[in-house]
Amino acid sequence: MRPGINSDQTERIIQALKRAGYQATPNRRLVAELVAATGGHFTAAELLERGRRERVNIGRATVFRALELLASLRVVERLDLPSGSHAYVVCDPDEHHHHLVCSTCGRSEDIADGELARLVDEIGRRNGYRIEAHRLELFGICPACSAADTAERETLA
Ligand SMILES: [Zn+2]
Ligand SMILES: [Zn+2]
Ligand SMILES: [Zn+2]
Repeated sequence: MRPGINSDQTERIIQALKRAGYQATPNRRLVAELVAATGGHFTAAELLERGRRERVNIGRATVFRALELLASLRVVERLDLPSGSHAYVVCDPDEHHHHLVCSTCGRSEDIADGELARLVDEIGRRNGYRIEAHRLELFGICPACSAADTAERETLA
């Protein structure tokens, strides 16, 4: 097994494909492995780059197609970054949640609705809507990056 491969995550993605009636072709399996090895959000270009580094023979079109398929199954979710570009993040399609995304290192965490569910209902009610779905991603600086930033500033001071 190649280093950095998260086999549980890979299997989860493969199972989601099979459940939806798709075959786990070698190419899809490769993309699943590349996706599972990411530690946060990633772009198609980054997956290709990782593939090249690991000497995996996979084409650009294959990666794009597989990512689109995984996104349609909601195993990965497409993020619109504040910079205007797009990235993907590995996702759990079975449990409703949101993402906290670090703008510096790209790491991403899942967070539950909490108070948000009530607030969303309230917004719907106030406007006469029955809300059926919502999406929200939160972007910011993670604790590790905040600490690194503070340490750097103290060194400079
Ligand atoms: Zn998610
Ligand atoms: Zn960070
Ligand atoms: Zn929610």
